[in-house]
Order: sequence, then C-alpha cells, then structure tokens
Amino acid sequence: MASGERQRTCRACGKKFDYPVKDSAATRHHCEDCTAVPAETRKTLERLNSRVTQLENQLRRLSEKPTV
Ligand SMILES: [Zn+2]
Repeated sequence: MASGERQRTCRACGKKFDYPVKDSAATRHHCEDCTAVPAETRKTLERLNSRVTQLENQLRRLSEKPTV
C-alpha cells in the first residue's frame, strides 16, 4: 500500500475510497460523490448507511452460525 494513503469507508454511502487523493474533493469521512450532496441529505444517508452496516453485520453473524 502506498505510504501516506489510507483507504477509507465513506460514512454516507459506504464506498471504499482512497484518502487523501490529489485533486479529489473527498474528505476524511466522505467520498467525492457524497461531498457533493447537501449536508442535510448526507445526514440522512449516514443514518441509512449505519443501519445497512448493522444489518450486514447481523446477517454475517447469522450466516456464520452453523445450521442446527
Ligand atoms: Zn460516499
């Protein structure tokens, strides 16, 4: 992995992106796409995304469980 570059997960859409990238509008917590979204809307996206993340984790736990 390149030094100084870290892969981040966007808080709003869950996309993985590199940060920092030259000439990219991306921030620490949001990918380039989501920085273009109004803050109010982004808040909603973040809420939905955190629910999706929760559900994904739950699903993974369930699928890891041996079927009895
Ligand atoms: Zn995003």
